[in-house]
Amino acid sequence: MVDGTRFRWFGHSCVELRTPGGKVVLFDPWFGNPTSPRAAADVENCDVMLVSHGHFDHIGSAPRQVRDADALSIARRTKPAWPCIHELSLWLETEMDGQGVEIIGMNKGGTVATRGLKVTMVQAHHSAGDWSGAGEGPLYLGEPVGFVVELENGKRIYFAGDTEVFGDMELIGKLHKPDVAFLPIGGHFTMGPAGAAMAAKLLEVKTVVPIHYGTFPILAGTPAELQAEGGKIGAGIKVLAPQRGVETALP
Ligand SMILES: [Zn+2]
Repeated sequence: MVDGTRFRWFGHSCVELRTPGGKVVLFDPWFGNPTSPRAAADVENCDVMLVSHGHFDHIGSAPRQVRDADALSIARRTKPAWPCIHELSLWLETEMDGQGVEIIGMNKGGTVATRGLKVTMVQAHHSAGDWSGAGEGPLYLGEPVGFVVELENGKRIYFAGDTEVFGDMELIGKLHKPDVAFLPIGGHFTMGPAGAAMAAKLLEVKTVVPIHYGTFPILAGTPAELQAEGGKIGAGIKVLAPQRGVETALP
């Protein structure tokens, strides 16, 4: 396919991006989230896997069961490149040893070229890690991050992961000039609509796709609130919030 960039949102932060060159990028593939219209077992292709941090709702599992996560089962089947933060890569290399998955350990500020795309890791303000499978203690999986993905046509997609709004989003905007930003808006565990509107303003991005909302009642922020908050501060954003599972073109 060479007809532009498309995505499908499967609820929570689970996003499938289809690039102009026909590559499939999966972000935070928790297909097991209670609102997803698609099962992880039905995912047939993944060229690049991007997991923002080691919390169960991003790597895709029940709490304390990250070894059984959707991201791992999909990767074993589809053999993607999987750029991730160093500590997560060490754990994954053990879990996925000899199974043909290209684990690429990296860190914030770095860029890797893989599968025709350029993936830059940027900071996020959140936490990470889980609990060991045997329950004997915490499982340290590195720090939370965001990603900027440069596509074959030069367009750049910023996926913020889970984060509070922070002033250095202005630097991410100046340095990487994203065309589209996927931003959490649910509140409670991340920024809400007002924070995300400020984030978009700092990033100077005009198209915003809200994520990390509506999965549970506690993630209460809505796309309409994001649009309204953007209006209040003159962010000039267009909120793109399709139904779950519906393929949508990006500008
Ligand atoms: Zn989360």
